[in-house]
Amino acid sequence: MITDAESAAPFRHDLCVIGSGPAGIIVALEYARRHPDRRVLLVEYGAFQGTGSNRLDDTIRIADPRNHHAPYECTNKGLGGTSLTWGGRCVMYDDADFIDRPILRGGCTWDAAWFAQIKPHGPAAAAYFECGSGPFDLAEMPALRARPIAEGFVEGEVRDSTVERWSLPTRFGKRYRGEIEALPNLSLCCDLEGRRIGEPDDRGEVLSIECRRVTDGQPFSLRARQFVIAAGAQESTRLLLRSPGLFRRLDRVPEALGRYYQGHVSGKIASVRFRGDPRLTDYGFHRDPDGSYFRRRFQLSSPTLCRENLLNTALWLDNPLYHDPAHGNGAMSAMYLAMITPGLGRRLAPPAIARSVTKGQVHGVPRHLLNVLRGLPGSLLTPASIFYRRYCVERKLPGIFLYNKHNRYALHFHAEQVPHPDNRMVLADDGETLEIHYRLTDDDVRSVIRNHEILDQWLRRCGCGELEYWFAPEDLPEAIRDMSRDGIHQSGTTRIADRPGDGVVDRDLRVWGTQNVYLCSSSVFPTSGQANPTFFLGACAIRLAHHLAAPPCATSN
Ligand SMILES: Cc1cc2nc3c(=O)[nH]c(=O)nc-3n(C[C@H](O)[C@H](O)[C@H](O)COP(=O)(O)OP(=O)(O)OC[C@H]3O[C@@H](n4cnc5c(N)ncnc54)[C@H](O)[C@@H]3O)c2cc1C
Repeated sequence: MITDAESAAPFRHDLCVIGSGPAGIIVALEYARRHPDRRVLLVEYGAFQGTGSNRLDDTIRIADPRNHHAPYECTNKGLGGTSLTWGGRCVMYDDADFIDRPILRGGCTWDAAWFAQIKPHGPAAAAYFECGSGPFDLAEMPALRARPIAEGFVEGEVRDSTVERWSLPTRFGKRYRGEIEALPNLSLCCDLEGRRIGEPDDRGEVLSIECRRVTDGQPFSLRARQFVIAAGAQESTRLLLRSPGLFRRLDRVPEALGRYYQGHVSGKIASVRFRGDPRLTDYGFHRDPDGSYFRRRFQLSSPTLCRENLLNTALWLDNPLYHDPAHGNGAMSAMYLAMITPGLGRRLAPPAIARSVTKGQVHGVPRHLLNVLRGLPGSLLTPASIFYRRYCVERKLPGIFLYNKHNRYALHFHAEQVPHPDNRMVLADDGETLEIHYRLTDDDVRSVIRNHEILDQWLRRCGCGELEYWFAPEDLPEAIRDMSRDGIHQSGTTRIADRPGDGVVDRDLRVWGTQNVYLCSSSVFPTSGQANPTFFLGACAIRLAHHLAAPPCATSN
């Protein structure tokens, strides 16, 4: 059902969910389906179709933009949230992410037992994300497990069998709007901003949340038996920072609130050259029987990560840099030229993704044109076929990976970050502006380099290949600091912990000091792993909905 603030305010709902991105939609739908007799209210800041400019992004200040995208590149507002422009890469967290390695400086405040509770919800999450029903490890796929990523490769210190899966990508607003409208016990209220969560009573129960209509600023108070804050990592954190009274039953506002902000360190510093038959290199996508795409990557095994005290890092085969015409590939040059064409580039990819392809540079246009001319007709036919598969069919080709007859591929790294207290979100003195402080630490950089070294040693030991670095050893740290940018994978700022001194929510995602306020956002993840966060967040959302729907039991919180 669609509702408005005036109609919603008089009722006490069973569940009120703030934010209608993937997390909020999954919690609301899952709960409403299981309990047709209970009333659910889903509150969304944006309009149905998403908005252009908005006051939330206008009041974010990135203290140091070197490694962080601008606010409008990081999130979307409106039904479906940031799934409007997300890429759809679905990745499972790894066992290593729940092991407290010294490099995490005590920041691993969750554990394997928690992971074990979330994992069983993977298949249900995959159904929401439409990313296929298969496993995330080729070891569970008899047809593929015998085939290495490249001739001669043997699994050991390095693994080649974990996979990423791909959503359509599902735009949650468009995909689930019909069901939201059809469910009689689920009401959606757009254009309403959650502003402040009420103070809990002496039993820890919060009665209401203060909201403000976006169009005219009119205040409303919404009442519910239980609340879930699912406003995305930034905005969920801001909402809690603006609600210090929420923690009145604790000694103080949890110190972890807003701190330990992490994303991923990402970029390319090397190519891999394999020695075997190039036709046997598994560089591209596989498809499940339902048509969904998946692809393998390199990762160090958990024992190797622990022994070496490193951050979890995925490394996948990629194309050379698009913007550098030295690659000599007509199709890549044609795609690069399309991306830098004003107006066209924006239509082909959201800004954060476009920037990762073009590096924000207009560079070597005449040489790119020469590549296109030399490569005709393939330099136009290949992009045309890719364009069709990426933009004209429902299940989109998730990426473009081109065969290399020399068996040489760029390596893309995507790495966990140290949960560092100085990387943080702070509410400025005006009570509105969210200041974001985000930098790479020396350990972040060192770990990326060491992951590459171990991969190189392992490939040589197998006689399978070796890495070719793009920078001199002494230039690698600065190169990594220059190329990496995030802000689209946000985690850590309201982390899970077993006591309020260490985190903000408990294992059930309930805010410490309350009985009935929960957080459903990747901000609760204490460590970022190598995984893009949204799929795992979806599994957490399902578990949370089931927990909320369970009969109440006595708690000590
Ligand atoms: C370009 C891009 C590509 C990405 N690609 C991937 C990918 O391939 N794989 C992956 O795992 N992740 C990816 N992500 C990240 C992914 O989009 C997010 O992890 C995911 O959308 C988070 O879901 P969410 O529901 O927590 O928050 P969001 O999707 O951000 O939704 C939050 C919703 O809450 C609303 N809201 C905010 N504040 C309030 C308030 N005070 N009151 C009411 N409503 C509020 C917002 O308007 C929004 O609709 C990408 C992100 C970007 C920007």
